Formats: sequence, C-alpha cells, structure tokens
Amino acid sequence: MLAGAIYALSLTGLSVYGQSAVSSAASSSVASGSVATSSAASAASSGATSSSVSGSTNTEATALTFSLTVTNPTAIPLASITANETSLATIPLPSTATPGATNTFLSGAPALPNPTSIVSSNYPTLDKVPPTDSDEVQQWISEVAASGISIPNITQTVLGGCPANAEAAADTSRCWWSCTGCVRDTDVQECPTKLTWGLTYDDGPSFYTPNLLAYLTANDLNATFFTVGSRCAQFPVTLQEEFMAGHQIAVHTWSHPYLTTLTNEQVIAELGWTKKVIKDVTGVTPNMMRPPYGDIDDRVRNISIAMGLTPVMWTRINATATFDTDDFDVHGGLASSYGVLNNWQNIITQANEIDTGFIVLEHDLFEETVQLATGYILPSAMNQSFDIMPVINCLNKPLSDAYIETNDNSTNPPAASGVTILIWFSGVVTLSSGAPGSASATGAASSSNSGIGLEVSGISIAQTLSGGFVFIALFL
Ligand SMILES: [Zn+2]
Repeated sequence: MLAGAIYALSLTGLSVYGQSAVSSAASSSVASGSVATSSAASAASSGATSSSVSGSTNTEATALTFSLTVTNPTAIPLASITANETSLATIPLPSTATPGATNTFLSGAPALPNPTSIVSSNYPTLDKVPPTDSDEVQQWISEVAASGISIPNITQTVLGGCPANAEAAADTSRCWWSCTGCVRDTDVQECPTKLTWGLTYDDGPSFYTPNLLAYLTANDLNATFFTVGSRCAQFPVTLQEEFMAGHQIAVHTWSHPYLTTLTNEQVIAELGWTKKVIKDVTGVTPNMMRPPYGDIDDRVRNISIAMGLTPVMWTRINATATFDTDDFDVHGGLASSYGVLNNWQNIITQANEIDTGFIVLEHDLFEETVQLATGYILPSAMNQSFDIMPVINCLNKPLSDAYIETNDNSTNPPAASGVTILIWFSGVVTLSSGAPGSASATGAASSSNSGIGLEVSGISIAQTLSGGFVFIALFL
C-alpha cells in the first residue's frame, strides 16, 4: 500500500495525463467542435453542448471538460464516486462455473478444476513477495537458467520510481519503460489495427469484479484481466467466472511489487506463483504478463520472456501522454472521477489520431474503478467507432493462443528462442521450443518432422538423446 501511494504521487509528478490535463482539455474542447472524429460526431449528433471547465486538474477536477453523451442509466452519479464512497453491495456472479465444465470459448481447454482445491496453505503468504527457497521457486529458477535467455546484469532499483533512481533512469540501455517509455520488440504496447481497443483490467479479481463481469456479459464484451496471484487465491470462483465467460486471463504478479526493485529470484517467484495459481484455478497457464506500475526493464523483461510471458504495457504516445485513465487513484483520493473521465476523453482524442489501435490502463480492484468503467467509460466507448476486445484478439490471434496448454504455436510462437536439434543419422528434427527450459509447459515439444514427441526441455533433450545418438544442439 505504501508503495502504491509512492507511485501515485510520482505519477502525478510525471504527469501521465495528470498535469497535461489542462492543455489537453483545452485543445480537445476546441477540436471536438471542428474535427470529424467519431467522438465529435457523436457529440454533435446528440446535440450536447460543451461543459468545459478550464483550469481543472486530475486531482481537483470537479467537472467534465467535455460533453458526455452516453452513460449507463443505472450509473452512480459522478459526484458520488469518491474515495469516501460508502461501499455498495456487489451483485452475485452472473453464473457459477461447474467444476469439470469445458470452456466453450476456448478450443482445447482442459476441464475446469474444482475451486475448493485452492487451499491457501499451498501458496505463499498473500500480498508478500514469495520466498525463493521453496521447491517450486527453485524449479522455476532452474528453468529460467536453462532457457537460453540471457538475463542482463542490471542493478535493482530502489522504491521511489524515476526520481529516486536518477542514474538508472538516465541509463537508456536498461530500456526501463516506466521512466523512459522504452519498449523492445517483444513488448505489446498497442493493437495493430486503428480504432481497435485492447480492453484490460488490472489488480483483480476483487469484490467488485462480478459487477464488471455482469456488465461485460450483458454487452457482449470481452477483456484481458491482468490478475494478481494473491487475489486469484482469494477469489478463485470469480477468476473461474472470468475465464469461463471468455475473457483472457493474464499475469500481474503475486503481490504487486515494483519488479525492478526485486532480485532475479524474487521476480521469478512473483511470476511463477501467479502462473501456478491461475493454472490451478482455471486449468490453463497464461502467456502474457503486465508489470505492476509498468515497471519493467531488460532484466525483468527477459525473466518474463524466459518464463514464457510476453509483456503487455499500455499505449504511450509520449512522456506526458500514456493511455492511463488514473482510475486507480480515485479510491485513494488522489484523483477525482471527473479527472478520470477527462483523461478518458483525452485518450479518445489521441486514439482517433494515431494510426494503430490502443491499450488503456484500467482496474477492477475498487468499486470506484468498476463504477466508472460500467457507468461511463464503456457506454461512451460502445457509442463510438471502437472495436473492443481482449489483447490477444486485438493482435489478430485466437483466445486459444493466450494459454500455454491451448496454444498450438502456429500463430503465436512463444516469445522465447527456439531450440534446434540435429540428429545426424536419423534426419533433421527441428523443435520449436516454447518457454525455454520448459517445453512441456508450452505445448511446443512435439517434433514437426520426425513424429517423435518429446515432453522435455531443451537441456533434457540433450541428456535424453545422449545415449546412442550423435547430435548437435543449438540453443538459439
Ligand atoms: Zn496493477
């Protein structure tokens, strides 16, 4: 919680749409009257007049800087969506998944596990960085070491973000996204197709996730949920409902730390336990992750890739314009609901101007964030020209590509490098290794040329075949 507060404050300092709200709002209110964007068009068609308020900021905004054309008729009034809001009742889950059921949205999915099998004693302490000396973490550490992915020797950062790590922030070779916006080819930061919105919600599942799920289902929408492992262990039935409704489940760490502040082993523990609890609850293992706070550098990035997890960020236009609604900060009183919607309007404006689709940062952790999503943001978005879908789909891939067990690797080859094995006197066998060091976990282990199925890692292949075969193994 302390770390979250520090981050929130540093975000305000960074002005991710925060301090730029005034100038952006001013320009967007002008543009909405003259530029034929879809938002301007819908505003015009409704006959709504602008209610711009100049001089407002994210944290102090008490009114909208644009005309809101569509809301959910049952939306909570914006003035009531505050940090001091009285907790409202959550609605029941829209349905109850049956253990043993098959996910009808996911080709090849295994039967749904029984959520009563999720016993807290089988997992690390909730909301703490897991210890690294457990058998599980030691196994994952060895798999990363055997992956063939080199983990750069980058020093850990300290809490406090970019201002507290001036030297690291200035070191562009780290490719530290949250400080410099640097991305690698392995990262997903937008959707390729213009006006396509990769809808994401972070930090759940929570008490309020069922309210969001009900709205998404009622409106035939699907999203990507970057889930916290501790929340998955706490709310396994809700996670199952997300999964069975056809949403994409992805990794957002076990305890929501700043990953660049952790040791390699701790990063592995954070990601590994979250993969495991999701697999235990849903039957499948995600292959995408989002670093909390966007805190990723080449060290964290390569560990993620070595664990079969593709980093997914949110769209960043420049240092002062990332597609962050700042909805997370309403609950803590660091942003107002009006400020969040003003941010959303700025995002819409930018989304209509860029050549690609986009990904927005939102959360399903707090009732305020869910109320803003279901009451305002989603109704507004659905009234415009956006195609809204999970990240895996916005990348033009089927949902089955989002999980190791259901991904046939044909359209979504694993992020990690492959392993090529040449068996000299029995022909050439090319193995497409998935998460390196863990071919069995990628579903990629069957040979395409020889018909031999090898459910072992690249290293184990070498060991297995060493008796009686002459071979050369190249780890690429
Ligand atoms: Zn988060």
